Amino acid sequence: MEEKGILFILSGPSGVGKGTVRQKLFEQDTNLKYSISMTTRDKRPGEIDGKDYFYKTKEEFEQLIQENQLIEYAEYVNNYYGTPRTYVEEMMELGHDVFLEIEVQGALQVKENFPQGVFIFLIPPSLDELRERIVGRGTESDELVRNRLNEARKEIEMMDAYDYVVVNDQIENAVRKVQAIVQSEHCKRERIAKQFKKLLEG
Ligand code: 5GP
Repeated sequence: MEEKGILFILSGPSGVGKGTVRQKLFEQDTNLKYSISMTTRDKRPGEIDGKDYFYKTKEEFEQLIQENQLIEYAEYVNNYYGTPRTYVEEMMELGHDVFLEIEVQGALQVKENFPQGVFIFLIPPSLDELRERIVGRGTESDELVRNRLNEARKEIEMMDAYDYVVVNDQIENAVRKVQAIVQSEHCKRERIAKQFKKLLEG
């Protein structure tokens, strides 16, 4: 299948604020289609089935896995989370951009199946601060520096699979950068050239 829409994947370490960035992004006018995930976790107060998630039992979720109805899934804090295949593929086929907000294990699976997707890694600003602090003053204990370096290293290694890195220093900045990435991807020569070629052929 040759997809007509672009698949955007926002991911990053746990607690970095992916959900908030995604919510703010979709509060604004956007042509992106958000893929609502399936989960086995309990509904939180205020959440709506079919809007925040599709809430499933463990058995239902495992059935979906068996039937290959998910493009990726992961177990996170003892619950399953996954992205439904039909919605994503149909929307892209219709020419819509689809947006996923998922944790890192899932993002790596999407990368295997949709290498042409646009992968955005959201990082906490502390990673920047950390770099400065480690390079700079030298006042932290050796052990603390080592632990923090290890944490930073893990996060930096995760970045390798991604096309873009956005620092979540302030939500508005991060949202603006994600919007800029979406725009830039639409200006890519390869995509535009393909459209023009079709025009010339047609
Ligand atoms: P929460 O339970 O706080 O809504 O989400 C927990 C984590 O699961 C977040 O990091 C969120 O990005 C991730 N997540 C949400 N939906 C999916 C999904 O469909 N697949 C994967 N792999 N992770 C998801």
